[in-house]
Amino acid sequence: MSNYLSATVTSVHHWNDSLFTFRTTRDPGLRFVNGQFVMIGIEVAGKPLMRAYSIASANYEDHLEFFSIKVPEGSLTSRLQHLQPGDPLFISRKPTGTLVLRDLKPGRRLFMFATGTGLAPFMSLIHDPETYEQFEKVILVHGVRRANELAYHDYIEQDLKDHAYLGEQIRQQLVYYPTVTREAFRNEGRLTDLVDSGKLFADLNEPPLDPVTDRGMICGSAAMLKDTAAMLDKYGLKISPHSGVAGDYVIERSFVG
Ligand SMILES: Cc1cc2nc3c(=O)[nH]c(=O)nc-3n(C[C@H](O)[C@H](O)[C@H](O)COP(=O)(O)OP(=O)(O)OC[C@H]3O[C@@H](n4cnc5c(N)ncnc54)[C@H](O)[C@@H]3O)c2cc1C
Repeated sequence: MSNYLSATVTSVHHWNDSLFTFRTTRDPGLRFVNGQFVMIGIEVAGKPLMRAYSIASANYEDHLEFFSIKVPEGSLTSRLQHLQPGDPLFISRKPTGTLVLRDLKPGRRLFMFATGTGLAPFMSLIHDPETYEQFEKVILVHGVRRANELAYHDYIEQDLKDHAYLGEQIRQQLVYYPTVTREAFRNEGRLTDLVDSGKLFADLNEPPLDPVTDRGMICGSAAMLKDTAAMLDKYGLKISPHSGVAGDYVIERSFVG
C-alpha cells in the first residue's frame, strides 16, 4: 500500500441519508491545485479499494475535506459511509484534474455549474483567493433534486461571508444560486433550462452569457456535462482542449454515470 499516502479521518458530517462530508489529516507532502481530485480508499480483503474524489478543501488548509455520495450497493461508499474519526484512509500521491483556474482565459464573470457531489471541487475553488483575483464576479450554480441535498447551503450563504481572510471578497464577488428540480424551492429547474430561459440572469439581475466576458467550469455526471457543455458551446464559449491550454470553459466528471 506504499503507493498511497496514509490519512486519518478527523470528522464526519452526514447531510442526509445519501450525502456526507468527512475530513482527514493531510500529509505535508501532498500538494494540489484547487479544483483537482485524488484517489481515496480503504483496505478491503488486503487490497486498496480506491475511487476518484474531488478535494473540497482549499490547498492552504492543514486538513483535507471530501464530499461524498452514499451509493447503497456501491463497493466503496457502502463502506465509506460508516467512517468514524480515527479510521485510516489511503490517498493517492498525485492529485490531478482539469477543473483548474489556470486553464481558463481571462474574463470578467466565472460561472461554476455543479450538480450533486459535483459541488465538491467548487468548495475548494470558492476558498481560493486567486478565484476572486481573476474574476470580478463568481456565480456558483448548484443543482440538486431535493432541497435536503443542498449540502453546504447554510455554510455558503452565511458562514463563508465571515471568512477570516476572504469574507469581504466573498460578500462582494460570490453569488450562490442553489436550484432544485423535484420539489418546491425558491429556485427551481435544471441548470441548462435556467440559462436558456434567461431566468438565472433575471433572478440575479445579470446580463446573459457572453463569450467575451464569461468563463465556465462544469462538474457533474456525464449526462450533465454533455448538456451543459453543449449549452456553453451554443453561446459561443470554447472548451479548453486539454490541460495546459486555456479555454473559455473546463469540465470534470464528478462520477461516471
Ligand atoms: C474525477 C472524479 C471525481 C469524483 N469526485 C467525487 C466526489 O467528490 N464525491 C463523490 O461522492 N464521488 C465522486 N466521484 C465518484 C466516485 O469516484 C465513486 O464513483 C463514488 O464514490 C461511488 O463509489 P462506489 O464504489 O461506492 O460505487 P461505484 O461502483 O463507483 O458507483 C456506482 C454507481 O453510483 C453512481 N454514482 C457514483 N458516484 C456518484 C456520485 N458522486 N453522485 C451520484 N451518483 C454516483 C453511478 O451511477 C455509479 O455507476 C468522482 C468520480 C470521478 C471520475
